[in-house]
Amino acid sequence: MFALLVLGVGVLIVAGFKWLDWSVQREWGQQLATLAAAVCAKCGMAFGRDCAVAAQAAYVARCRAIMQADPTTKFNFNGVWAVECPNCGARSHFNSNQRRSYPSAAS
Ligand SMILES: [Zn+2]
Repeated sequence: MFALLVLGVGVLIVAGFKWLDWSVQREWGQQLATLAAAVCAKCGMAFGRDCAVAAQAAYVARCRAIMQADPTTKFNFNGVWAVECPNCGARSHFNSNQRRSYPSAAS
C-alpha cells in the first residue's frame, strides 16, 4: 500500500514537471509567434521568425551574462527583448510579458 502511495506521488511530481516544461515551451512559442508577426514601426515589414528567435536568444544570453558576472545581482528580468528590424535595421523593443513591440524612441 505504501509503495503504491510513493509511486502515485512520484508520478504526480513527474507529471507536474512535464506540465511546467510544456507550459514554458508554449509560452515562449507564443511570444516568438507574436514578435514574428509584429511589424516594424519604421518600414511596416513583419519581423519574421528568424528575427524573433535571434531577439529571444540575445535576451537570454544577456540575462545569463549578468547572472554569471554577479549571481547576487538584483537585475530585473523584465522580459524586454531588443529587436533589430531585418529589413531596415531600425531598433525597437518587444515586451515578451505584455506581448507587444514598440519603437526604441518611445522607451
Ligand atoms: Zn523596419
